Amino acid sequence: MKLICIGRNYADHIAELENQKPDHPVVFLKPDSSILLKKMPFVIPAFSNDIHHEVEVLVKINKLGKHIDSKFAHKYYDELGLGIDFTARDIQNELKQKGLPWEKAKAFDGAAVIGDWMPKDEFNNTDDLSFSLSKNGKVVQQGRSSLMLWKIDEIISYVSQYFTLKIGDIIFTGTPAGVGPVASGDHLVGELEGHQLFAINVK
Ligand code: ZN
Repeated sequence: MKLICIGRNYADHIAELENQKPDHPVVFLKPDSSILLKKMPFVIPAFSNDIHHEVEVLVKINKLGKHIDSKFAHKYYDELGLGIDFTARDIQNELKQKGLPWEKAKAFDGAAVIGDWMPKDEFNNTDDLSFSLSKNGKVVQQGRSSLMLWKIDEIISYVSQYFTLKIGDIIFTGTPAGVGPVASGDHLVGELEGHQLFAINVK
């Protein structure tokens, strides 16, 4: 399975990193080895001094497909979740400046936190989900999926032009503003529409 990640999908986050608003979704992948195992702490890797949290709504693909029309994209998932796209911001900035791929900053072991899943039927409107990340009891990121530049169905349609979507693939839909560093001893809790979907410790 693969993790397909969307970058720069919220205007407020594009502004905080002083990036350009893209004409098309920014897409990158993480390998399955980047998934943080359940109940394990996130261990800060030795090669970075600036690991940032990025809380994101997740979509789990339940049907094989490619070239999916956004009209039919809703048939390709029935569960939503919440996760963290951990990013070595210092490494990413270096790679971005050189125009190099981001994998060393985004695809390392433990860089993908995947919380519990919820049936999408439990939500009134999947295009208007509120979600948040708390660090040590204080909310550090708060988002609404209604503010995505590309909505879930548009993302599915777009990425399926490039990659065949397979059962179990997971899409990270981008992070809102408020990204910031994590430190050893931090406790991170993610909530989607008031449901706690993950809680992890940083080591
Ligand atoms: Zn991200």
